Amino acid sequence: MQTPPPDMTDVNPTAAATEPDSAHPQADTASAAVAPPPAKKKPVRRKGDRAQVLRRAVQLAFLALNVWIGVQFYLFVRFFETGGASTWATRPAGVEGWLPIAGLMNLKALLLTGSMPELYPAGLVLFLAFLAISIVFRKAFCSWLCPVGTLSEALWKAGRRLLGRSFLLPRWLDLPLRGLKYLLLAFFLKTVFVDMPLFAVQAFFQNPYGLTLDLRMLDFFRHMGGTAAAVVGALAVASLLVPNFWCRYACPYGAFMGLAGWLSPLRIRRDPDPCIDCGKCAKVCPSRLPVDVKLNVLSPECTGCLECVSACPVQGALDLAAPVRRRVPAWVVAAGVAGLFLAFVGVAKLTGHWDGALPAEAWWDLVRTSAGAAHP
Ligand code: SF4
Ligand code: SF4
Repeated sequence: MQTPPPDMTDVNPTAAATEPDSAHPQADTASAAVAPPPAKKKPVRRKGDRAQVLRRAVQLAFLALNVWIGVQFYLFVRFFETGGASTWATRPAGVEGWLPIAGLMNLKALLLTGSMPELYPAGLVLFLAFLAISIVFRKAFCSWLCPVGTLSEALWKAGRRLLGRSFLLPRWLDLPLRGLKYLLLAFFLKTVFVDMPLFAVQAFFQNPYGLTLDLRMLDFFRHMGGTAAAVVGALAVASLLVPNFWCRYACPYGAFMGLAGWLSPLRIRRDPDPCIDCGKCAKVCPSRLPVDVKLNVLSPECTGCLECVSACPVQGALDLAAPVRRRVPAWVVAAGVAGLFLAFVGVAKLTGHWDGALPAEAWWDLVRTSAGAAHP
């Protein structure tokens, strides 16, 4: 999936005005002599920008929440594995946020039955919350909330500090590799929405394998096999060298959020009048978008990270903007992302659609039987 072709609003009038008219060279020379291009206003220096501090704070808070969920779920599972000898912890329903395919399957069930699922409802609620965040704030889930995105960003920034630079794949390789995440997304969408009838979705969740998807996710991390460890290690090394390697090339979840972000009314908007064409915005963009030559950044690869806005030295040249050129400050994005997340979780808890119907006692049997359970 590529950046959409530029529309008329996407054309830089400054660049268009400086384009030579090869059919009428004399006319061009004459008009240049008569009407020199209007002088630009004196640039006003942008005042202290807090966007990245805010974003970092939201990222760290969400990462901490995920670590807490991981520890809590580990203690919950260990309690049953040790026959009740270890510390008891309740199962945090938020662990279902790590089961995006289950969320997708439950979305299908919700659309076809009109009712919330009894198993893994929190996974569906989180999936819908992240989708809503992406629809309002572009692909902001990836750069403001996703813990994998946060780690990925920390890795490439650490790599750049260690090596003094980051590496970019050449365009001929970058372009097809970027398509990989959309292919993976298409595969999962087809499998769930085309190939799986509703009864197959419901049956999947009812057997020991489907009932313990969260346990399988935990086991993936704590009993990682040699092949999986090699793949994770290779991804970590690639992420040290290439900015957002996993997110840019391989994450189907991010691909979905990016496509949802196309519906967003917000976009990075450049005003060519105060812009001094320094190119700093394009240079810092982790998604390699040509921000400095666009009027509107409409690409599904834009994560709304605001790095470009923070780097721009001129007041009013580059901003996140709503329709009718209204500037959207970073604190609105921070508050909106956190507010939407809390609203979805809060409403789900209040209406009884957060905790699943599986009682904790069922885990006495499940921890024993799930090990041999095969994928249905
Ligand atoms: S265009 Fe700006 S907001 Fe979008 S990804 Fe690039 S740096 Fe981030
Ligand atoms: S950072 Fe980008 S938008 Fe800002 S002045 Fe430079 S080229 Fe223009």
